[in-house]
Amino acid sequence: MWSVGLSSHHRGPVKQVAAGYHHCGRDSHELDAIVEPSFSYKTRSANLGAMTTEPVDLLVVGAGITGAGVARDAAMRRIRTVIVDRGDFGSGSSSRSSRLVHGGLRYLEHGHFRWIFKANRERRILLRIAPHLVWPGRFVFPVHEGGGLGWRRLVAGLWIYDILAVFSHARRHRMMSRRAMRRAEPRLRSRGLKGGASYYDAQCDDARLTLATIRSAHQHGALAANYVQVDRLEIADGQVRGARVTDLVTGTTHTIHSHVVVDATGASSRGKRDELGDGSAPRFTKSVYIAVPQQRLGNQGALTITSPVDGRVMFIAPWEGVSYIGPADSACRTPAEETQASSADIVYLLRSANALFPDARLTPEDVLATRASLHPVITEAWRPGPLSLSPEHLLVEGPSGLVSTVGGELATYRTRAAETVDLVAERLHRQDGRSLAGMADTDVEPLPGGEAHDLEVLIQEAERDGVSRPTAEHLVRAYGSETPAVVRLAQSNPDLADHIVPDHPAIRAELVHAMRREMALTLGDLLMRRTHLFYETPDHAQSAISLITRIAGSEMEWDSERRSAELAAYLNEIDLNLTFRTGLESQDP
Ligand SMILES: Cc1cc2nc3c(=O)[nH]c(=O)nc-3n(C[C@H](O)[C@H](O)[C@H](O)COP(=O)(O)OP(=O)(O)OC[C@H]3O[C@@H](n4cnc5c(N)ncnc54)[C@H](O)[C@@H]3O)c2cc1C
Repeated sequence: MWSVGLSSHHRGPVKQVAAGYHHCGRDSHELDAIVEPSFSYKTRSANLGAMTTEPVDLLVVGAGITGAGVARDAAMRRIRTVIVDRGDFGSGSSSRSSRLVHGGLRYLEHGHFRWIFKANRERRILLRIAPHLVWPGRFVFPVHEGGGLGWRRLVAGLWIYDILAVFSHARRHRMMSRRAMRRAEPRLRSRGLKGGASYYDAQCDDARLTLATIRSAHQHGALAANYVQVDRLEIADGQVRGARVTDLVTGTTHTIHSHVVVDATGASSRGKRDELGDGSAPRFTKSVYIAVPQQRLGNQGALTITSPVDGRVMFIAPWEGVSYIGPADSACRTPAEETQASSADIVYLLRSANALFPDARLTPEDVLATRASLHPVITEAWRPGPLSLSPEHLLVEGPSGLVSTVGGELATYRTRAAETVDLVAERLHRQDGRSLAGMADTDVEPLPGGEAHDLEVLIQEAERDGVSRPTAEHLVRAYGSETPAVVRLAQSNPDLADHIVPDHPAIRAELVHAMRREMALTLGDLLMRRTHLFYETPDHAQSAISLITRIAGSEMEWDSERRSAELAAYLNEIDLNLTFRTGLESQDP
């Protein structure tokens, strides 16, 4: 099974050529969009069967952006690779980030110039290989009298930033007069406003970028399965040789035998390191974002601000009618899975936003949803033996041979993955003498959906197929060159062409697409990470939840007990997300 599935770049799941697409200069009738036929719950079962039957070269534990990148790079180098996650793909920090693929403006202060240079290069690559998921945008940076960042520091910082990007930002920064800033953001506090600057950075769909990276790994032969938890590592002669795992869908346990194991479990990484005695307990920062209706806050575009509360840098990023505000950072020792926004986080974020947008008078009732996650504070205490220590990233090979790759930004995931796979290749060479020279073309090959140089062409094509402009834009932003696959589903069944909830451009065909081609298994997968309705609707799509459960249930053959369990789990997710509301009574934002 392995030899068929993993030995060649072209022997992954069969690719399907669909007609009717116009992009990348290809003949639309020949080779327009390549859509993988299936990446569903059935694929998952088959993958799980295969990965527990024969030994593999590499087991990647954790399918956030770090693990996804490692799996893709390794599979492209023809390393027999398995990747599992105890939750959904990207369900950790990788779907709760600031959604910025930034060039590292905030690292200027610490003088990490080389890292900024690298981040800018990586941003260029991501804009090329996933133009639908990563896109450039303008940010304004207002400066107020007595604010956290002075005018001179801002000017100097932005010049250095542009120079380190080798002037490759979509456009160079511009200083803005008070009047220009008022025009750009009319509802910004005018008292004390001196002006500011505009500069260019990139926003991204973090959850879908992670998913696309996993799917690419799968297309190159890696076996991927979500909801598979690593319970313990298998050790033989003092060396890690695989892991004992539980399939959290069926409750069955299995062993995966692997020559090398990479721990890419992000904030949970300390668990396995402690278990093996490989490292000391690291420190973590909890970061929280809130989503509020953009109309309520009143921002016109994306802003970088210094919080009037404590002078820390924050972002306000608009997205499908919602503005994300954050982060609120605090030290944390809670296990990653229990990390939630606290009332103090919410009060801090609302106070900061209200101080800059005084007409908004945001209250906790305006908070549609929260995104909280942990990220490691990398210090020397994370030794022994860091092989690579860049700002916020560490690559360690422990005494038992466990390779841990911890921390780092979304933006630089590709280079972190390459470094990690170099180390894996070296270990495989030491073990059986095989030569795995050569790098993977991860910077050249588009991610699934990324074969689209001109998104507008795809949008117009969807419009010609009868899709409204807002939905066409929404679909192309999410699926890129795979948009026609979703449109075809809608055409095949008019029911699926309807919106999931009124006033949001997402359509029902996306749910079916997510289950068939994106391995969505639960309501949370569908609504939080495939579509983002959980965050972008005032009621977390509860008004349509019966319909959504019906569509999911019939696609995945859920019986009534499973439907009720799924519903209860989703409602619990909403409760957890809004736990900050208890305990807010005494505090006034
Ligand atoms: C609030 C916040 C904002 C950020 N903003 C940005 C930004 O704007 N731009 C940027 O470039 N970066 C940003 N970052 C950094 C970036 O998001 C993270 O560094 C990155 O997502 C980490 O990815 P990861 O794969 O290492 O970890 P994770 O995404 O957390 O993945 C780890 C995975 O391991 C799985 N796992 C854990 N234990 C097990 C087990 N026993 N068995 C199986 N699976 C397991 C988890 O379920 C999880 O999915 C931000 C981070 C935070 C917290």
